[in-house]
Amino acid sequence: MDFFARYKDELTAFEIAPAVLHQPCADVNGHYTSAQITKRPACYGIVFNQAFGEAFGFENADILLEICRGEESLGIDPYAHNYGGHQFGQWAGQLGDGRAIELGELLDQEHRAYAFQLKGAGRTPFSRQGDGRAVLRSSIREYVCAEAMHHLGVPTSRSLALFGTGDHVVRDMFYDGRPEKELGAIVCRVAPSFIRFGHFEIHARRGRMDLLKNLLGFCFRHHSKHLFEDTQPVDEQAIGIWFRDVAEKTAVLIADWMRFGFVHGVMNTDNMSIHGLTIDYGPYGWLSDMNPDFTPNTTDRQHRRYRYAAQPAIGLWNLTRLAEALSPLVENMQLLKDGLAFYQNHFNALTIKHMADKLGLSHISPQHEMLFSIADGVMSLMARSKADFTCFFRGLSSLEIERPTAELFPGFVHHIRETAYEQPSQALLSEWYDWFCNYHGLMMQAQPDIPNWYMQLNAINPKYIFRNAWAHEVIKQSESGDDEELHELINVLKKPYDEQPEWLYYAQKSPKWSFEMPGVASLSCSS
Ligand code: AMP
Ligand code: MG
Repeated sequence: MDFFARYKDELTAFEIAPAVLHQPCADVNGHYTSAQITKRPACYGIVFNQAFGEAFGFENADILLEICRGEESLGIDPYAHNYGGHQFGQWAGQLGDGRAIELGELLDQEHRAYAFQLKGAGRTPFSRQGDGRAVLRSSIREYVCAEAMHHLGVPTSRSLALFGTGDHVVRDMFYDGRPEKELGAIVCRVAPSFIRFGHFEIHARRGRMDLLKNLLGFCFRHHSKHLFEDTQPVDEQAIGIWFRDVAEKTAVLIADWMRFGFVHGVMNTDNMSIHGLTIDYGPYGWLSDMNPDFTPNTTDRQHRRYRYAAQPAIGLWNLTRLAEALSPLVENMQLLKDGLAFYQNHFNALTIKHMADKLGLSHISPQHEMLFSIADGVMSLMARSKADFTCFFRGLSSLEIERPTAELFPGFVHHIRETAYEQPSQALLSEWYDWFCNYHGLMMQAQPDIPNWYMQLNAINPKYIFRNAWAHEVIKQSESGDDEELHELINVLKKPYDEQPEWLYYAQKSPKWSFEMPGVASLSCSS
């Protein structure tokens, strides 16, 4: 294993004496600090991602396990990133890797570099009041969801391994003043880099233009090969190009979240990846019924800042904070404004395309005047019918679309009744009828290739998602020492578009109990 660390080699360290690396440090004026993994001799392996690990030469999790236990260092000199961020709309100051420790980078078989982090491996200078640790519950949620996202086709950090620490961590899970001991865990997660919007904000806020500029140069050299030559200077034209690229990737990401009904839950700028990856899985959730106001995060219950329907606008808000951080290096603000406008236009274009695909209208021009009203109409009717987002779209492929509209409609009503969490009124069904006539009319008017239509639709609308209910069930099993269901579910989620008839349990809409149970319907940030 030849780990290397360009982030460390090429950027600025803030020196901290080894003896105090586990103590908080408020003003880190550098890109990173050294960090020490806390030795935990009782660590044990729970899951290892063989197929992904092999690309880097990992045959099993043994080496990583030894690193977690403190038996092996492989000459690795770990570090923690410095970053700040806006949390729930307010500038929160320095945050940094308080419980993630970066081991360094490795090349995959195609010579692409990926950074490896251990989340939950102990305190760093950025831990503030925290313990630098993670519980099994939240680590399972992160491990599984990142892989589920990857197999759906959504940009995300990857999960390489999950370890139990063999000891306990104290958490007040419901923030009700009743802390309890929970099992500790560590996730090894992987991404091209874990650089966030907040990495830029911290230096801009402190007026450290040198650190800001060097970080940009680093991103140009190593993470923007599709944009620049190695020698690209950090000038305003290049910053504009780079910013627009981040905006594009963010639009792709959020359009993907929206098309799968994913709600991140904590879209703070410190959780926004410059690569447009889903990172930092916390109190996220997937829509059960189509509810634009849904957020699973209890901390956000009142204002619902990060609710499903707000995510696209929050993406823009976060990009605007990034633009502000870059602005001291840019005279012509239009360069940054263009990036922001590009985000919106790109997001809108992707969304109409995604909606057409989800509805089996890929053969219709995205410019078709009726497409928008059909897409808008289905979301609004689904919301009013409390139809399950995933099951509703998946089930469209069981319609026999070649039959006349009026003959088809009773089957469609059956589909609504099956996928909805409430029975629709007659008035609502008659609105559905109007929508359905327009929808089916438009679809047939353009003469779809019928055998392909079913296949295409099932390749777009997944059958299996990682609902919080399933997360809850496998977590309970694993907490009791049985990881069988966890492994099974990970396998099911590798093929979210396949029928997998033996796993229909996980293809159901959310069970009733999951709407009431704390820790399932709603989650705190306690992790
Ligand atoms: P998150 O909400 O997990 O994205 O974390 C926000 C910030 O809090 C980051 O700077 C984390 O490193 C830090 N943080 C969260 N939990 C802990 C913890 N248990 N110990 C130390 N720092 C933490
Ligand atoms: Mg975070």
